Amino acid sequence: MELYSGEINKLISELAALPGIGSKSAQRMAFHILNLPHDRVKMLSDAIINAKENVKYCSECCTLTDGDICPVCANTKRDHGLIMVVENPQDMAAYEKVGKYDGVYHVLQGVLSPMNGIGPADIRLKELIVRLETHEEVREVIIATNSSAEGEATAMYISKLIKPAGIKVTRIASGVPVGGDLENIDEVTLFRAYEGRVEL
Ligand code: ZN
Repeated sequence: MELYSGEINKLISELAALPGIGSKSAQRMAFHILNLPHDRVKMLSDAIINAKENVKYCSECCTLTDGDICPVCANTKRDHGLIMVVENPQDMAAYEKVGKYDGVYHVLQGVLSPMNGIGPADIRLKELIVRLETHEEVREVIIATNSSAEGEATAMYISKLIKPAGIKVTRIASGVPVGGDLENIDEVTLFRAYEGRVEL
């Protein structure tokens, strides 16, 4: 026997499919939503739909943003000769929170993972190459992928790809715990990892 009726089950299973949400949390969220006033539920659903419809990849760095270009890329006071390569917008946000990096970013939107069938064409690598070819002012590319096996392999791959072009390639220091997601690391560790970067 089903514990709840069809529409409730549908809501629970959609919520449970989100990352980090177990079935218990999904049930709690579903009943919370059902007890909200109608206008609050509409605000929630509109926020999801509007974000999905209006957010796109920055034409420069591939992070997610509302406009054609993100605020970091649009900022002429940032050092556009320094590009930090990160895995996702959350990692970019982690560095922005530290507030001491004044270069720009390139967001891969993933890492190479042969085991999961993710190859170079599945992440935003081509965009990085095109960017380096069309922006002569770039003097250093800092690879700040996570220190997981996949993050390291991705760093090596990128390094081999762009070093022949004569651009300095550095890797953030491994003060970052192995397998640790960048976004969960405290700001001091993050800044140290950046300052202690080594040339590849
Ligand atoms: Zn951007």
